[in-house]
Amino acid sequence: MKHFRKELTINTKSRRAYVNITQAVEGALKESGIQEGLCLVNAMHITASVFINDDESGLHKDFEVWLERIAPEKPHSQYRHNGYEDNADAHLKRSVMGREVVVAVTGGKLDFGTWERIFYGEFDGLRNKRVLIKIIGE
Ligand code: ZN
Repeated sequence: MKHFRKELTINTKSRRAYVNITQAVEGALKESGIQEGLCLVNAMHITASVFINDDESGLHKDFEVWLERIAPEKPHSQYRHNGYEDNADAHLKRSVMGREVVVAVTGGKLDFGTWERIFYGEFDGLRNKRVLIKIIGE
């Protein structure tokens, strides 16, 4: 069995953002040379997510509005976590949107449904954050 590991570094220009990382993951898969197996992609931070959904900007705005409704950033004082930090909302948003995705690898390609794409969801950005890609198979 082969195995391959790669980290991506992402630095968003705003506190919250969604980044399509599908091409970067496809690039890692190509680099790995693995034809059949599994590809794990996870955020290495507890204030960011990796998830699969539609590459449609309206939906991403809907995520933003929905997440702000259930875990509003402000006022920062509403959260017990915000003693030395101001990112309690980011931890909660990450919990809702998930830590990682696993995609089947078939014939050297990510075996997606028609509209599936991989996104990095940032909830406390403006600094370097890491994403792990681990691919196993043959
Ligand atoms: Zn925190």
